[in-house]
Amino acid sequence: MTSPSEGVPAHPTVTLRCTSCGATYADTEPLWACVCGGLLTVGYEWPAAFTADREAALEQGRQATGLWRYAHFLPPTADPGAAPVTLGEGDTPLVPLPRWGERHGLRRVYAKLEYVSPTGSFKDRGAAVVVAKAAEWGIGRMVEDSSGNAGASIAAYSARAGIACDIFVPAAAPTAKVRPIERCGANVRRIGGTRSDVTAAALDAVSDGESYYAAHNLNPYFTEGMKTAAYEVLESFDCQAPDHMILPVGGGSLFVGLWRGCQEWRSWGWVPSAPRMHVAQSTGCAPLVTAYQQGSDEPAPIDRQPTVAGGIEVVAPPRGRHILSIVRESAGSAVAVDDAAILAHRELLATLEGLDVEPTAAVPLAGLASLAREGIVSPDETVVACLTGSGLKDPS
Ligand SMILES: [Zn+2]
Repeated sequence: MTSPSEGVPAHPTVTLRCTSCGATYADTEPLWACVCGGLLTVGYEWPAAFTADREAALEQGRQATGLWRYAHFLPPTADPGAAPVTLGEGDTPLVPLPRWGERHGLRRVYAKLEYVSPTGSFKDRGAAVVVAKAAEWGIGRMVEDSSGNAGASIAAYSARAGIACDIFVPAAAPTAKVRPIERCGANVRRIGGTRSDVTAAALDAVSDGESYYAAHNLNPYFTEGMKTAAYEVLESFDCQAPDHMILPVGGGSLFVGLWRGCQEWRSWGWVPSAPRMHVAQSTGCAPLVTAYQQGSDEPAPIDRQPTVAGGIEVVAPPRGRHILSIVRESAGSAVAVDDAAILAHRELLATLEGLDVEPTAAVPLAGLASLAREGIVSPDETVVACLTGSGLKDPS
């Protein structure tokens, strides 16, 4: 007797490559960006036997649960037998939105409930993979700059891995937001000045060589964790891609990860097509939508205005160029919605479908309503909207 997966190599070979200068690194070095400051991507050499047999490759992970069902699609660990750093992330629900859809003339709208995650946000996929790598490298301290979902997630996974954690936050960060971070044992370091000063303080803290910067908006491993959400969606649709995906985009780790996952499966012939990828932003902070409307390849300079969608307030997204290229390549779009629309759709989602999300997570619904009005999304097309953060995060 032979098992279906016999002969399928357990893991691909992995090299990190800088998207700016082309430098390459082994995945054994604890890097989050290139020495030139450029963004790193994880490059894989997939064994032909792996990509040739979808069912065998998927079967290989069936004994694991959640995100780690796809461990063999991720950068390998030095000890494949070691337990992953996990809080049960992944395998988030995909639920239809029939009543919200009917209201907007759309018959096949689904919500991927990424907020049904251990810390209540989609960030857990990235944090799990980043902290697992840090544990493997023997990192003594995790560093992150975020008072929001990313900070809470990195703090939780660091606690899980037994790694100390410093989270740098703006001096004015509300106590309610930093409490969950503190409860997980992380040191909250309040930094005065601008948001850039907070990042500078985090970078300074990792210069000791013992610490590792989780850098959710830069870190290539973070994005690799995100791509597992795409695999789940594609499996849910019996290896057919939805026609459209729309999500709130700030730094864009989930956007980039979803596209990466879809592209991998399409390039292997596992799915026949890829979705059109739509960026949804708040009008208060829409550098990508502005660039899209101007036909620019780079995020547009903007004057940020206050918005209820604090989770996507990223004025200069480091991956902006890549995100805009995905929009073009996938024949997608970028749409901005104002606070009134965001709050209206947050309420509609709760009253029509029973889903309570934070305002940022209602942005894709407001955006989808706009795309439906413009005819960019047709009534019978399949749409997946990613709901990224729980309403419990923002009870206001
Ligand atoms: Zn470089």
